[in-house]
Amino acid sequence: MKKLISILLALILILSSFTIAFASEEDVEIKTCDCENIPIVYVPGFGAGIYLDPENDDRKAVYPPSASSIIKALPEALLAVFGVLTNNENLFGKMAVRAGNKLLAELACDENGNPIYNTSIDPFEYPEFDYHQIETDNVFVRSFDFEYDWRLSPLDNAHGLKDYIEHIKELTGHETIMLMCHSQGNTVVAAYLELYGSEGIEKIAFLSPAYQGISILGSLFNKEADISDKADQLLLFLKTVMGESKGTDVVSILVGMLNKSGLTDSLLNFLQKYLTSQFDLVFDECLKPSFGNLAGIWSFVPDEYFDNAVEIMFGENSDAPILEKIRYYHDNVQVKLADILQETRDSGTQVIICAGYNISTIPVSLTPTVHSDFLIDTEYMSIGATCAPIGETFANDYVQAVDCGHNHISADRCIDASTGAFPEYTWYFSGLNHNDMADAYASFLNVYFLSEEEMSVHTYEEYPQFMKIVDGNLVPVEENEESEGILNFFKSILSF
Ligand SMILES: [Zn+2]
Ligand SMILES: [Zn+2]
Repeated sequence: MKKLISILLALILILSSFTIAFASEEDVEIKTCDCENIPIVYVPGFGAGIYLDPENDDRKAVYPPSASSIIKALPEALLAVFGVLTNNENLFGKMAVRAGNKLLAELACDENGNPIYNTSIDPFEYPEFDYHQIETDNVFVRSFDFEYDWRLSPLDNAHGLKDYIEHIKELTGHETIMLMCHSQGNTVVAAYLELYGSEGIEKIAFLSPAYQGISILGSLFNKEADISDKADQLLLFLKTVMGESKGTDVVSILVGMLNKSGLTDSLLNFLQKYLTSQFDLVFDECLKPSFGNLAGIWSFVPDEYFDNAVEIMFGENSDAPILEKIRYYHDNVQVKLADILQETRDSGTQVIICAGYNISTIPVSLTPTVHSDFLIDTEYMSIGATCAPIGETFANDYVQAVDCGHNHISADRCIDASTGAFPEYTWYFSGLNHNDMADAYASFLNVYFLSEEEMSVHTYEEYPQFMKIVDGNLVPVEENEESEGILNFFKSILSF
């Protein structure tokens, strides 16, 4: 009898555990939500912290370099300066390499693109917090940040993004999500679209995108760093950042005077002498070993610099396994981006692109007169807009390159958006620097994500194709604003 009871009890226990198991499985499946607050996954730009032995409590920050690594590199840095002061080019070169390697070497990856040292971003934890508890119309409050190792290929990071999106869907109970990406994050999202398509993604906002590269980085990877006779460009750059139109800016007046006297060019040419004689050494012994195998950085090399950069970095070592990943991004994502985004749109996913312009780029490359957000070329961000040289405007007889029945030339006559891949869905922000998430700009993005109808540059009168921020508000760009390029550059620098 006792035996029978215990068997019965055991049966009951087993059955009840089954029902518990069924119930909990059902709970997971039942948890779906069709509310209007679709979750947003944010893929940020370059710059996640990289740590040596990240699992240890006393881990060391490799990027950004810790104060103690900077102090350790200080003696070599001071000796490099001493080399300049005593006109000793070799001392400068040697010490610059040693200082650079003390700061950068631990970031390096091997020929397979894997970190050489035990380095990674913070051990990654998926978010457990569901925004549904918060009442908000601010889409930024209900966005989930995806973190990734910026050294790795956008394709590898796209796999991580895929898993992350699946987790967010499960967490929130939503079957669809929206994507917002900034700077390098755009390379990851572009790679994701190439690998997985856009199913389950309702809207994407590409902000200050690096998906087509950065000419400054392309120049550097082509061993072209040239600051000689760049005094005028330096002034233009400074004016862009500071605002020439105000006419009172001390720095641009000062630089202007130094320029007229020829002093700036003398100084730049003096420094260029060191750059010319030591650049090969610094490049070969510091930049190449530190950055050559970083597929994430390679995604910043624009198409027109790519083949030469591969030749310079890999030379005879053209079967290095990492090259396959680097080439895959270039051949199948970067060069085919317009097609990928067109397919994305055709499959029903809304897409907008936001790019800054009217800021001079850092005057170290051979093409310093391009419109940029001070870092990335406006032409690349917009996938092909036609830009006047910065500081100049289109000639009076210039006509829009592609006639689609709308005007796509900015009132300041700097940008012809009609040659961009998506002229109806690309916005241009005069003087908006690469990292500026101004409130008015955030509000604009908020409107996009909440808008029920598909938003184009024609949808809202208050959000035309070309805008700038005045007194904290977005206003349409007006005529004759082209002189602010240098002013804007200085403003960008000061805002860091
Ligand atoms: Zn919901
Ligand atoms: Zn049009």
